[in-house]
Amino acid sequence: PVTIDKIAAGEVVERPASIVKELAENAIDAGATAITVEIEEGGISYIRIADNGCGIEREEVPSAFLRHSTSKIRTVDDLIHIHSLGFRGEALSSIAAVSQVELITKTAEETFGTRYRIAGGKEEGLEETGAKDGTTFVIRQLFYNTPARRKFLKTPMTEASHVSELMTRMALSHPEISFQFINNGQSRIHTSGNGSLKDVIYHIYGREIAMNLIEIQTEAGDVKISGFLGKPVISRGNRNFENYFINGRYVKNQIVSKAIEDAYKDFTMQHKYPFVALQITMPGEEVDVNVHPAKLEIRFQNQQAVYNAVYEAVDRGLRKEEL
Ligand code: ADP
Ligand code: MG
Repeated sequence: PVTIDKIAAGEVVERPASIVKELAENAIDAGATAITVEIEEGGISYIRIADNGCGIEREEVPSAFLRHSTSKIRTVDDLIHIHSLGFRGEALSSIAAVSQVELITKTAEETFGTRYRIAGGKEEGLEETGAKDGTTFVIRQLFYNTPARRKFLKTPMTEASHVSELMTRMALSHPEISFQFINNGQSRIHTSGNGSLKDVIYHIYGREIAMNLIEIQTEAGDVKISGFLGKPVISRGNRNFENYFINGRYVKNQIVSKAIEDAYKDFTMQHKYPFVALQITMPGEEVDVNVHPAKLEIRFQNQQAVYNAVYEAVDRGLRKEEL
């Protein structure tokens, strides 16, 4: 099983940012309202993720690290209506296969918490410990047992920037959660969790962008779109400022990007890339997020309907501002 986990780990764990993504999504699924991520050396030697979510009961801890072990799907129907972010039960086993993991967790019902260690897929101990409610993972020495893969990691600075980007997206997609990102001992992001997307945008992108936003909220059929459009004056030369979240998940999608860019282009008669931060929601059965666990791909049942809904929402927002 250890070998299979190592192979599966290649699917899920490509770099420190993929670990942070999986563990932060687990924290969100666990109902956390505050999530702290701390890394050293780009996350290669050290990642700590602490949340104040529901915790894991002591009896459940070892099995959470088994492949295909998930507490989130119990029926086939659940598979179709996935609300939680993770659902394959692969993350913990994959991460533990290629690093040294320490877990401290406690549920509200337990008096004492649990400390668990597992490295290279081998359990190294489980004991009772004092702990606050919630879960803390410490991941050390990524790919220590797969040197060939360790070679594919980029410099700590590059790896840290991937984690930073991920934290930015997480913060934007969940204004109701307080995110803190600490890199080499320095706090880089710290959002309030007060629920205001505008506050998150201000915190991350600064005053110029936060002062030039158009708020939108539309509903076309069963596609709902809300969030902020940057006024055309703050458009940029690249796509990096296009943030959109489909059913809470940050994705990159040709159809959605094209709809946004087309609407701006038709309005301004210029081809530039806008700032946007949009939440797009639609019934779960209309999107297929199950394309690849670690990738940002997504497929729609009805691409044209999504294109139209996004184009119109952006177009109307831009026109509203003109009046
Ligand atoms: P999945 O998220 O697909 O269920 P994972 O391997 O990511 O699979 O996690 C396995 C299980 O461990 C989860 O289903 C959940 O029960 C538990 N778990 C993981 N992280 C946390 C956390 N931060 N808080 C509470 N439970 C967690
Ligand atoms: Mg998960």
